[in-house]
Amino acid sequence: MRIGILGAGQLGRMLALAGYPLANTFVFYDLSGNPSVGLGEIIIDRDGQYLEDFLNRVDRVTYEFEHLPVEVVEKIAAVRPVHPTPRSLQICQNREAEKSLFGELGIPTPQWRMAESEQELEKAALELGCPVVAKSNTEGYDGKGQAVLHSAEDARAAWASIGHKRLMVEKFVDFHREVSVIAARSEAGEVAFYPLAENVHEQGILRYSIAPAPGLAPDVRKDAEQYMARILNELGYVGVMALELFETDTGLVANEMAPRVHNSGHWTIEGAFTSQFENHIRAVTGQPLGNTAARGVSCMINIIGEHGDLKRILELPYAHVHLYDKAERPGRKLGHINVLADDYQELKWRVRNCAELLAGVPEFHCSLTRS
Ligand code: AMP
Repeated sequence: MRIGILGAGQLGRMLALAGYPLANTFVFYDLSGNPSVGLGEIIIDRDGQYLEDFLNRVDRVTYEFEHLPVEVVEKIAAVRPVHPTPRSLQICQNREAEKSLFGELGIPTPQWRMAESEQELEKAALELGCPVVAKSNTEGYDGKGQAVLHSAEDARAAWASIGHKRLMVEKFVDFHREVSVIAARSEAGEVAFYPLAENVHEQGILRYSIAPAPGLAPDVRKDAEQYMARILNELGYVGVMALELFETDTGLVANEMAPRVHNSGHWTIEGAFTSQFENHIRAVTGQPLGNTAARGVSCMINIIGEHGDLKRILELPYAHVHLYDKAERPGRKLGHINVLADDYQELKWRVRNCAELLAGVPEFHCSLTRS
């Protein structure tokens, strides 16, 4: 099948790498003018002149990036099957719509308010009780467009630093750790869940994902799967989705969802029987889903800003290196390394060895290193 992908970054690259063995071909449609995918056919179209050309070359369309104009995706959906649906995209672009949907589906969220001025931000902080996190309602990712208010007096500085007209203000969640659940839903409505991952962020950017999340209580896993299933079924979703959650003393609290393959699922390339990328391609091409079980235990380490000593990392017998063919730049995701092991003890040791060879990676701290 000829698959059209909206967006042309590393997620598109990994989707194609997983889709070629199943005899698919790929055409990327890039609106940014800066594609990094490095394979397949790429159509760069900053002002929408070549959309028809793109559509003539593909049978189905999906995306690797959710900050796309919904009108463009709706236009495409009128002439080609698009998975996931434009509605999924619309909801994920807007924190208020997303948290409202979670509420309607009985999925716990932090308490939240909307604010459209510095005064409203201050009022929300007082009502919710500090600390609170203020986030731009749209266009936020990787912790960008966010500020933590430790007291209502921080409202002025937070409003100025975020610089958006409409903010979501959330009560700060006192969590043990961050986890994510990734699932795929097929055209036939079958749902397959990956084991949850434990995610370690630094300055809003994912650094490590450990899967399966160590020591996860079975009822917590069941809750995560139920929340995910409710969202997927409500949206009539086809493809892979990620849901990020906080694990607290009283259970899971939902943070946000992504209508696409996700960085916290990169471990599945070697760490699961079928990767998230292959399952997304299977779903959007109308095929049955593959086995989502883990092989042993895994940790994904993001390569950010600088590549580090890749030669020595390539010598490690347990490290799988994935590079995105991007130039080094502070804060940029350049690749990732999947470290596999038979047990968590061994994993911890291997991850530390590997991280030492990378530049600027924070020390490996997670539930494994605390116990
Ligand atoms: P987001 O862009 O919403 O995923 O937020 C980025 C990161 O900020 C999350 O991964 C958390 O580490 C932190 N964060 C976001 N919202 C909250 C919250 N309500 N309470 C505590 N930490 C938060």
